[in-house]
Amino acid sequence: MEDVVGPLKPRADGLLYADDLTSFQFMAVMDTFTETSHHCPVCNTRQWSVQLDTDDKPVLLALPSFRDGSDKMLSFFMSCSRCGFIRSHLAENVCQLASKLK
Ligand SMILES: [Zn+2]
Repeated sequence: MEDVVGPLKPRADGLLYADDLTSFQFMAVMDTFTETSHHCPVCNTRQWSVQLDTDDKPVLLALPSFRDGSDKMLSFFMSCSRCGFIRSHLAENVCQLASKLK
């Protein structure tokens, strides 16, 4: 069986949902970034960890807003395996990029 990472598909309502993103699609999007981005900006290693939830999907964080009526900002994150530096990417952007994966 071939492991092909396909694009993130919209649901029946035509929208992309961060909850549908697989760890393979997340990593495929990260791989589209520049070579420089693969290095930790703190310790320069190239080893990143992606925490997975019980469905083996990348953990989705909701950044709280303390203003009334504001939407939560959803993001995915990776941590540097050496120094623990955490980088996060807004889910909306990751999903848009994932929908364009070949
Ligand atoms: Zn680091």
